[in-house]
Amino acid sequence: MPRLSELSENERAEFRAEQERAYAALQQAGLKLDLTRGKPAATQLDLSNELLELPGGKGIADDGTDTRNYGGQLGLTELRAIFAELLGVELDQVIAQDNSSLSLMHDLIAYAMLHGIGGGQRWAEQKIKFICPVPGYDRHFGICQHLGIEMVPVELGPHGPDVEAVRELAADPAVKGIWVVPMYANPSGAIYDEQTTRALLAMPAADDFRIFWDNAYAFHHLTAEEYAPLDVLGMAAEAGNPDRVYQFASTSKITFAGGGVSFLASSKANLDEYVGHAKFRSIGPDKVNHLRHVRFFGDAEGVRRLMREHRDQLAPKFDLVGQVLTERLGPHGVGEWEAPDGGYFVNLAVPDGTATRVVELAKQAGIALTPAGAAYPHGNDPRDRHIRIAPTFPPLPELEQAINGLATCVLLAAAES
Ligand code: PMP
Repeated sequence: MPRLSELSENERAEFRAEQERAYAALQQAGLKLDLTRGKPAATQLDLSNELLELPGGKGIADDGTDTRNYGGQLGLTELRAIFAELLGVELDQVIAQDNSSLSLMHDLIAYAMLHGIGGGQRWAEQKIKFICPVPGYDRHFGICQHLGIEMVPVELGPHGPDVEAVRELAADPAVKGIWVVPMYANPSGAIYDEQTTRALLAMPAADDFRIFWDNAYAFHHLTAEEYAPLDVLGMAAEAGNPDRVYQFASTSKITFAGGGVSFLASSKANLDEYVGHAKFRSIGPDKVNHLRHVRFFGDAEGVRRLMREHRDQLAPKFDLVGQVLTERLGPHGVGEWEAPDGGYFVNLAVPDGTATRVVELAKQAGIALTPAGAAYPHGNDPRDRHIRIAPTFPPLPELEQAINGLATCVLLAAAES
């Protein structure tokens, strides 16, 4: 079958008419499907239902902590120990907090705005900027937008952003941060390699420049290859910039989304500074939930075992997305995508200038997609080509319908352009 770009004018008109018929049929089907957010499916949540009965007993942790009472700003030691092992950090380099790592990111930036970092000038008194590898996570960009931080996009490759471009930007003292999703980046699936990471850790930057190392998908492998997290804190110390990294993780996509536990891993100085602010905001995190998670996981291997059960449910969904896109778009040479090794998303690049149209067509056919451009600061994808597919939530038959419908919209939009 010839590629769309190779069709004669007549053939192209015929192709377009064919896609219009397919789209009309799609609209007739009256679908109501949602591929917008990377939420776990109900069957994944079921894997952790035991949590609903825990912690049981008297709420006393093995170290004697009465989790029912106030206190313990750093979180329950037993839970910190499990995630210290999983993240490859020391116990005193990680703290366990409440249900959202995104709120830790937000709060750290808000504290820097209000108080500065390490005795430096308050960010609120300066015009500050963050480097934003794109495509990236829309909620990171949302925090920047909400707090008045200028965002500077840099193209994200399969192993990280262009290091030279980042180095040049970071030399500006107004640049205070970079967003990094090091494993299975949302939405491209990129995995930062050691070389890129070391470069980011060693480059000259302001003293209060921080890498927001958001390891939201550190354990969310889709293949048998279970990559270990990079020892980013160790590498930062070796580079002579021990305080450069805030590492985040959470159990939102391990146990319950919105009902899990978040983690901040960083240098002692950074953790002390964070707790110095956080203690005014809360008398301590929810340790009952910490204990519940400790009892449920047992140990680090318990987390790994659970993640393999998630993988068994998710891998077929990602395989299906790849299969449908290959069958439907491949023969026409339309669109580009990669099968990620982990995480929650597939990034579909459609022909330039058509992503907004595809999302609109899909909406009119009852298929909700993340708005085109969402993976870019201010929702502005300069080439209007990225569509984030979130295949985790719908059951397989619905997912198949949705991706097939999406493919129809992609082909129609390409034929129209
Ligand atoms: N970071 C990334 C990259 C995400 O995709 C998400 C959404 N799951 C979050 C953070 C939010 O994490 P949490 O639920 O811990 O706030």
